[in-house]
Amino acid sequence: MKTLESYVQGRWVAGTGVRTTLVNPSTEEPVAETSTGGIDFAGALEHARSKGGPALREMTFAQRGEVVKKMSQAIHGARDELLALAIENAGNTRGDAKFDVDGGSGTLMAYAGFAEKLGAARILVDGEGIQLGRSPRFFGQHAYVPRHGVAVHVNAFNFPAWGFAEKAAVAILAGMPVVTKPATATAVVAHQIVRILVDAKVLPEGALQLLCGSVGDLLSHLQGQDVLAFTGSSDTAARLRAAPCFVSGGARINVEADSLNAAILGPDVEEGSETEGLFLEDVARDMTQKAGQKCTAIRRVLVPADRADRIAAALADRLSAIVVGNPADERVRMGPLATAQQLADVRAGIERVSAETDDGFGGAGKVDPVGAPAGKGYFVGPVLRRTPRPLDVRAMNEHEVFGPVATLGAWSGDAAGAAQIVRKGQGALVSSVYSDDRAFLTAFVPAIAPWHGRVFIGSAKVAGQSPGPGTVLPSLTHGGPGRAGGGEELGGTRGLSFYMQRTALQGDQALLRSILGAE
Ligand code: NAP
Repeated sequence: MKTLESYVQGRWVAGTGVRTTLVNPSTEEPVAETSTGGIDFAGALEHARSKGGPALREMTFAQRGEVVKKMSQAIHGARDELLALAIENAGNTRGDAKFDVDGGSGTLMAYAGFAEKLGAARILVDGEGIQLGRSPRFFGQHAYVPRHGVAVHVNAFNFPAWGFAEKAAVAILAGMPVVTKPATATAVVAHQIVRILVDAKVLPEGALQLLCGSVGDLLSHLQGQDVLAFTGSSDTAARLRAAPCFVSGGARINVEADSLNAAILGPDVEEGSETEGLFLEDVARDMTQKAGQKCTAIRRVLVPADRADRIAAALADRLSAIVVGNPADERVRMGPLATAQQLADVRAGIERVSAETDDGFGGAGKVDPVGAPAGKGYFVGPVLRRTPRPLDVRAMNEHEVFGPVATLGAWSGDAAGAAQIVRKGQGALVSSVYSDDRAFLTAFVPAIAPWHGRVFIGSAKVAGQSPGPGTVLPSLTHGGPGRAGGGEELGGTRGLSFYMQRTALQGDQALLRSILGAE
């Protein structure tokens, strides 16, 4: 069986001791094993700080952008190989795998584009300068400089390629070296990406290291200039936040966690309209893409009560057309969940939501998968639950079922009522509203925006161009308040600020301009 090695201090290293076995979630056959036992975590961090950091800081933004561009090209060049690995180890359909792998190379390429605009600078000027004295000579200017530490990236199992790329692109452009750690269960794709990048020699020594397996005591070695960007469950996030390096040591942490994203159909939307078509398409896609294992997936669907039966029937129609099974079979449109643990969690989640709701489609998710060995694989079919009282259903508003599961709630149709239900999610990455009624949207959007990192407004005007709320774009911020972790990533050059220190410079204006590279 293949052993996944970690890449630390410029070498590929196989961990010692007990190994974790990674499987094909459609067949449960082993595909690889890995361990980080015996790896020198402190040495890896020091290697990044002493070699990777200085090499990246020596480069201008444009030069770092060239590195990021070459990373994108190397990943794209190995696209077919990576798609095959995602199908095998993550249970992705080919479409799901493209979403992950192309999303990763596309995000890196977008950051290469942002770098071009930053040009030959090494310091990022923040906003306009400010006259501080009687004359413009005494001046103030905010600016961002790269932190002199290491960026540790801990990712969730659902996006091994994009999750790696969306964090690495920003950190490397900011000038921080990266130690990346994919979720162990689906680490094959991220492992192969790092192999490709190491072989292509596109990064300076120490700028990128990989840990395949547990992070061990890594966090205990983080120092004041280091950062951790974490994506995963809020339970793990809560444990990580309590680490002394964050509580009192000065290291930074950014968290992307759970999210009960909502999709709301506006009261103005008519049967058969383009806006209704967009809504149905987005809900059905988000429920089933990556088998619902997407942090941005729609979990709560709110529909005016007089249309709830019709919309539920239209969604059931779309969901019944989805062929579930082994993605190695070309007929399949939805693969398995990624792990046995995921299957157990999703089944428990369906049970919990079902105790308070009615069946809309799919019952408890039992399914006869196509192309999988009998009795094998972590399959669950799409499940739509229904309730006439979405404000009162605790499981719907409090428990994220990380699978192809959503609950449709009927509501009165007024903006304040919908906002009250949406806010019960206590903070989300993205919610979407579908309406062409400006008065409704003008009341509704500001009423939910403080609980969201992003609000998607679907209307007839954007129907032909929109990738839907589930697609995270590099130019817009990704993250959300409250339950979603309180973090923020991407957003074009906004994302750099996590990896850089904002400092206010005060002094002679001409001197400041020369320090900042403006003259
Ligand atoms: P998880 O169990 O919290 O694991 C996430 C990552 O944390 C994995 O790499 C895991 O490594 C690592 N980890 C676990 N315990 C750790 C510890 N004590 N110290 C350091 N690292 C530790 O989450 P998951 O099951 O992979 O992901 C599903 C969750 O992620 C869902 O709740 C979903 O909402 C959330 N998610 C959020 C976003 C977002 O952008 N907001 C995106 C995707 C997913 P091992 O695999 O080695 O255990």
